[in-house]
Amino acid sequence: MDVIYRYDPFAPMTARQIPDAKTALETLVQGNDRFKQLVHLMQERTLGGDNAEPIVVPMSLMTSGLPLFPGAMPSQSPFAVVLGCSDARVPIEAVFDQSFNDLFVLRIAGNVLGSECLGSLHYALANLKESLKLIVVLGHSKCGAVTAAVDTHLSPDAYVNIASTFALRSLVDQIQIAVRGASHALEKYAGAAMSDQTMYRSLLVGITAYVNAAVSALELQRELRLSRGDGPQVVFGIYDFETLRVQSSPLLKPGIPRLRPAVRTATELADYAYEIVEALMSLDEDDRESACKLTIQS
Ligand SMILES: [Zn+2]
Repeated sequence: MDVIYRYDPFAPMTARQIPDAKTALETLVQGNDRFKQLVHLMQERTLGGDNAEPIVVPMSLMTSGLPLFPGAMPSQSPFAVVLGCSDARVPIEAVFDQSFNDLFVLRIAGNVLGSECLGSLHYALANLKESLKLIVVLGHSKCGAVTAAVDTHLSPDAYVNIASTFALRSLVDQIQIAVRGASHALEKYAGAAMSDQTMYRSLLVGITAYVNAAVSALELQRELRLSRGDGPQVVFGIYDFETLRVQSSPLLKPGIPRLRPAVRTATELADYAYEIVEALMSLDEDDRESACKLTIQS
């Protein structure tokens, strides 16, 4: 199977136009679909499938955000800001199949919103507002920071060992609101006895990844004082290792937004947490286990 990057110096060069948040969102989702399709094709080939047709990826300096000739740096013009986790398995540009100058990326463990993060966001909003149409919070499944926060919730006596420094504590503490939201939603759905089940920890980590992305999007919107129709739209979702998809629900049904608008109130946040619990519990047992199984050391 060949993946060919093809550069034609005589092809017409037109810069990509991203006029609004809707186009920015579609561009990211389509990019994630390209990434997913390519990885699936390679996986099929690895497993002995037929050799697929070569994939030709047209290359252009202009659409790749690269200098057209030596010394000609383009001005910075990302169409989206992405707040993601530092996890090495989730490189933001690769997951969305985007290139140079497309995304303004902030990465911090657990995709939590710290003051330096907010400073970078303020900078982006003030200086890149011409091109910026969308702000994305992207969590991911099997997140180590989320798992640490869940473990401090489930085993308070292990708290000091897990969050052994002030800096680590501040990170883990920021995720607690999402852990509590997820745990409350799970208890509301299945009753308090749920916490005795063997899958409880994994389920809680799986649900918290979604709720934590929603919390960061809610906080980010509040901190930046963004209201509807004013400035870039804020959306959130997670990258799932099993499906390779960016998604805002474990239910893979058409009509469920891949990235959804930030929740605006505590009630909307609680409703979202409950929706995720319902979605996970509606999967058959094997799918639920693979969606939530923990492959990380913790
Ligand atoms: Zn993570």
